[in-house]
This record gives sequence, C-alpha cells and structure tokens, in this order.
Amino acid sequence: MIKKKICMLGAFSVGKTSLVQRFVKSMFSDKYLTTVGVKIDKKTISVNGQEVNLLLWDIYGEDNFQKVQMSYIRGASGYFLVVDGTRRSTLNTALELRERVEENIGNVPFILLFNKSDLEDEWEIDDEIIDQLSEDGLTVLRTSAKTGTGVEDAFLLLANKMLEG
Ligand code: GDP
Repeated sequence: MIKKKICMLGAFSVGKTSLVQRFVKSMFSDKYLTTVGVKIDKKTISVNGQEVNLLLWDIYGEDNFQKVQMSYIRGASGYFLVVDGTRRSTLNTALELRERVEENIGNVPFILLFNKSDLEDEWEIDDEIIDQLSEDGLTVLRTSAKTGTGVEDAFLLLANKMLEG
C-alpha cells in the first residue's frame, strides 16, 4: 500500500493535535494536551479508488518557529500550515514556517488551514486577508476540529494533491 507522510505545522495551540484527533478518531476534547516532540498517527483512506496509508506527524510547535525540528519534516509528501483564526500572529508564524519548510524540502503540496471556525465571532483574521491569500495562489480552507467542519475535506484534498504530484 502507498504510504504518505503529512506534517501538521503551525504555532502553539492552533489545533494541530485536535485536527488529527478529529480526522483519525472523529472526536474532540477541550482538555489541553501538549504534544512533546512529535506524535505519529495513521489513517488509511481511499483516493480515487486507491488505498493510501497516511502517516500524520503532529509536530510540537512553539511560537518561536526557529525551534521547530526541521528534521521531522524530511520525507513529507505534504503538510498543513495551521492558523488559529482567533490569533492573528499565528498566520505570520504559518507563513514563516512555510519558507523554512521550502528551504528544507522544497516545493511539496500544502494547505493553509484557518482553524477554529466555530469561534468565528472571535476571529482576528478578516475574510479579505484570507481571500487575498487564496488569490495569491495558496490553497486555503476553514476548519473546526471542534465541530468537524471542513476537516475530512482538508485531508482528502491534501491527499489528492500529493498523489497528483
Ligand atoms: P496544538 O498545540 O496546535 O496541537 O493545538 P491543540 O490541538 O492542542 O488545541 C489547542 C487548544 O485549542 C485546545 O484547548 C483545543 O481544545 C482547542 N481547539 C483546537 N481546535 C479547535 C477548534 O476548531 N475550535 C475550538 N473552539 N477550539 C479548538
């Protein structure tokens, strides 16, 4: 079976672990669990009739992205840059991480996820900013690990992009 590695990247507490939990276990917990180092989950999905075993690397991210362990990125076929819509600074972290990842592993498919869409009233990131990023050619999706909105679609879209490439 084809195996593909996906990395979850983004600032502290944006919802990386929660998105993986939602996708793999269809659950959400409000209890805060800090990921130490890296945690790897697996899920097999079907993409255009082809079974793909996704290895989901949940990488501990500090707001200081310099400290993200770039060695964990090696071998990734794709990655998510996760942003917390309620904290604008997490978008900057995501965009900076993207540059560091490209320096390290080049151009592989990624999706920018604006997570915590269930908290839309508290968002600090305007639709205009998100639309602009999309016009600039980035693939952008809104998700909620809490309600599940957009999560399955995000993983399927990334898997599709990875298999095309
Ligand atoms: P990580 O550090 O990026 O892995 O973030 P976590 O997955 O640990 O989530 C950080 C906090 O945000 C936790 O308290 C989660 O319960 C919460 N959280 C994550 N995703 C969502 C979401 O989509 N909506 C809401 N309301 N809270 C979320």
